[in-house]
Amino acid sequence: MAKKSMLERVINSDFGAKLGIPQGTKLRRYTPGEPFLDGPVVVGGGDLADDIRSLLQVDYQLLDAEADSKRAAIVFDATGITRPEQLHELYDFFHPQMRKLGASGRVIVIGNNPDDLEGDARIVARSLEGFSRSISKELRKGATGQLVYVEPGAPITASESTLRFLLSGKSAFVSGQVIRVSATENENVDWERPLAGQLAVVTGAARGIGATIAEVLGRDGADVICIDIPPAGEALAEVANKVKGTALPLDVTADNAAEVITEHAQQRYGKAVDIIVHNAGVTRDKLLANMNEGQWQMVQNINLVAPVRITEQMLENGGLAADANIVGISSMAGISGNRGQTNYATTKAGMIGLVDALAEKMAAAGGTVNAVAPGFIETAMTAAMPTGPREIGRRISSLSQGGQPVDVAETVAFFASSGSRAVNGNTVRVCGQNIMGA
Ligand code: NAP
Repeated sequence: MAKKSMLERVINSDFGAKLGIPQGTKLRRYTPGEPFLDGPVVVGGGDLADDIRSLLQVDYQLLDAEADSKRAAIVFDATGITRPEQLHELYDFFHPQMRKLGASGRVIVIGNNPDDLEGDARIVARSLEGFSRSISKELRKGATGQLVYVEPGAPITASESTLRFLLSGKSAFVSGQVIRVSATENENVDWERPLAGQLAVVTGAARGIGATIAEVLGRDGADVICIDIPPAGEALAEVANKVKGTALPLDVTADNAAEVITEHAQQRYGKAVDIIVHNAGVTRDKLLANMNEGQWQMVQNINLVAPVRITEQMLENGGLAADANIVGISSMAGISGNRGQTNYATTKAGMIGLVDALAEKMAAAGGTVNAVAPGFIETAMTAAMPTGPREIGRRISSLSQGGQPVDVAETVAFFASSGSRAVNGNTVRVCGQNIMGA
């Protein structure tokens, strides 16, 4: 970890807090073996509320909405709200709840997916986005808020993995997000080891976010093939050993990359890959006027051309199972755009394009494709930023802090699970509800 400058120490001190500089609260993060939630859940709203209670009561403690004690989470089914006049139900339910939510609490609103609706029902379903994104900005002490859009008529079991993820410490740095859930049936998984028996590939796994993704997928039971460029071989071998996986030194831009991965999976595991995480990525920041062609093209080749080519070729040659779960690492810059990052933001928006382009095909074969768009994450890359922009970058979010690589990795693992078959075609930001592009 880089040594902190005097300015950085002051900004992050009690004195900094007295000066009015926001100091993020320590977030509740997931530890295996601990309870799924650190307090009771209040469930309210329409017809799905009873189904949600039945689903949650197995592993969670429930609390009456009228109770005065603190609650760890509030879940509200808004699918019964189909006319604008009914939006008052949001006020009626949430107004008395707001002061009763505990630290690192969770607010989850469930609505019908507007894409599946018409007329008034579509209008009010869309209203829920404004409500949930605003509530997330009002929450304090590390609490987060999200909206889950469900396909009308979908059984609540389709949303189980999403509810579990959002209630847990795994979603610590996810806030103000919208997740769309279809009626697709999920596979039954062991919630402590949801990836057991799965073969995963993680690119860019020698360090940073990729190394943590490999660790989390391994923790959740997957066999992990860790890929990085050959010069990173030693660090890559260490990560692979740690996760009891295998190291595959490979430049993802190599013409035969798809073949090499397919052969490695067959030779070492005797099977096709079930999960692929396109994490390898680079930046070469320059204003477009000052950028040379090499800086443009290198970023395109690694961040987008390679993931697209590897995915297409491995689906074609059977190296990637037809019902695979594909996860792309995008970036907030791909959503908001960023000065000096025309090359990078093009590729990161393209990663969201890959999700859009493949979602239907993957769903038809029983698989999924989703993207994670990290915001400010504490890595070697962000540690190297000048103090001013770094401290601002950390604080311009509802959680007033940077995220950890594990926050990105947990979201990847949520998407990668067969328990999340109903979660397809989504891009979720892991950014603490950063104001950039929100
Ligand atoms: P990182 O520390 O630079 O790690 C990226 C890894 O990918 C490195 O080990 C790198 O190896 C490897 N890599 C680069 N080119 C490759 C190639 N052609 N083939 C195989 N591996 C290659 O980056 P990070 O911060 O962990 O970021 C991981 C991903 O998250 C990237 O896609 C990045 O764009 C995205 N992201 C990060 C942040 C953040 O705040 N850190 C925010 C938004 C998005 P070498 O460097 O040794 O070449």
